[in-house]
Amino acid sequence: DFDREIKVVVLGNGGVGKTSMIRRFCKGVFTDEYKKTIGVDFLEKPQFVDALQEEVRFMLWDTAGQEEFDAITRTYYRGAGAAVIAFSTTDLESFKAVQSWKDKIIAECGDIAMCLVQNKVDLIDQAVVTPEDVEAMARQLGLKLYRTCVKENINVTEVFGYLAELHHKK
Ligand code: GDP
Repeated sequence: DFDREIKVVVLGNGGVGKTSMIRRFCKGVFTDEYKKTIGVDFLEKPQFVDALQEEVRFMLWDTAGQEEFDAITRTYYRGAGAAVIAFSTTDLESFKAVQSWKDKIIAECGDIAMCLVQNKVDLIDQAVVTPEDVEAMARQLGLKLYRTCVKENINVTEVFGYLAELHHKK
């Protein structure tokens, strides 16, 4: 039963791990080599969501590097039911940008399901943000915070399960 289908856009500055997160969730792989695009508009993944007791078909959209030039197209946002706002543990600029990513999502999609994701928690010894800074940001934005390590597959499935649940409640 593929009735429940959700388009999820994954946003954040370049290099925070968006493509890696999509590939991890949809294909179960991680590669260290830096590659800018997944080559297609989106990847698809059916996943059973515990909170809904139902299979959900996730359509995960990659920015394909467009974020670098502030050139994300309308097509990218169109029909999105949920959004991941991601930043990296080791990139202060990416953390400072999360408010503007939220503003963009609201401008393009309205008040859809969203959460804040701190990726690369395996690099905590190189962290440029404190846990308190991050928690304060999440509170200020009114978003649930997930700390992920796409590399070691920590908390990735949980992010998408949460978004599906929140989307369902809205
Ligand atoms: P994007 O530009 O946001 O799509 O970022 P990418 O997915 O291309 O990832 C940028 C770089 O960060 C790549 O070299 C990834 O292998 C690496 N990366 C992604 N997630 C993690 C993680 O959880 N831990 C570490 N150490 N590196 C990661």
